[in-house]
Amino acid sequence: PAAGTVLLEVDGLRKQFGGLVAVNDVSFTLRAGEIMGLIGPNGAGKSTTFNLISGVMSASAGTLRFAGASISGLPSRRIARLGLSRTFQHVKMIPDMTVLENVALGGYLRSTSGTLRAMLRLDREDERRLFAEAERQLQRIGMQAHLHELAGNLALGPQRMMEIARALCSDPSLLLLDEPAAGLRHKEKQALAEVLRQLRSEGMSILLVEHDMDFVMGLTDRLVVMEFGTKLIEGTPAQVQASPEVRAAYLGT
Ligand code: ADP
Ligand code: MG
Repeated sequence: PAAGTVLLEVDGLRKQFGGLVAVNDVSFTLRAGEIMGLIGPNGAGKSTTFNLISGVMSASAGTLRFAGASISGLPSRRIARLGLSRTFQHVKMIPDMTVLENVALGGYLRSTSGTLRAMLRLDREDERRLFAEAERQLQRIGMQAHLHELAGNLALGPQRMMEIARALCSDPSLLLLDEPAAGLRHKEKQALAEVLRQLRSEGMSILLVEHDMDFVMGLTDRLVVMEFGTKLIEGTPAQVQASPEVRAAYLGT
């Protein structure tokens, strides 16, 4: 999609868990080439919003459009195939497999019925292609030194990078990252921000949830602030930081 065109349209999105309205009439638009942040206190409904957009959960109400087509009610695998890829708040990996294997196989296994037997049915050519793509994506984000390390031996920073590489393997145009910088050291956060800027410059669009305000304000083009399931405000980092509502409700000043 050309930079600046509407890539993701979220309109009147709602999710109810019993009596709890976790996401309440949330609407926003993400344009191609943007890094957009989704911020708000714990329990605000950010991860649920990601689950709804990526098809992991179905919405109680509202519509979702991606790249010009309705994705409302589509299963996550179909949405992924349209070019919307995500990571989860908690890293998912097979600790006693290498980084390269995790990226090559992890994405594959999660995209199929999920058994190792399915993997064994791959022919050589498919397998070669999966591994080549995994290596390419790991190199793209600066993980070439870790290809053959066991995933379980990685520090949290490289583990999160591995997750991003896995998400990149399906050649997405939009990447949803749920707290990619959580638990990272300052240096690792800077490296992550650099990788995400690089991806943006290559035409990728990114929607990310993050708590570190310095990280978010320095990286994103626009922000949506959520509180108690609703959208409090949307704007540039400068607009959000200047908003009295946000200062009162979220930044605590
Ligand atoms: P955030 O990511 O902003 O911290 P979540 O989207 O994870 O918030 O959660 C929003 C609210 O929805 C919370 O009150 C949480 O307990 C609730 N919630 C999230 N997922 C479920 C679920 N699967 N079942 C019931 N309640 C849930
Ligand atoms: Mg969350």
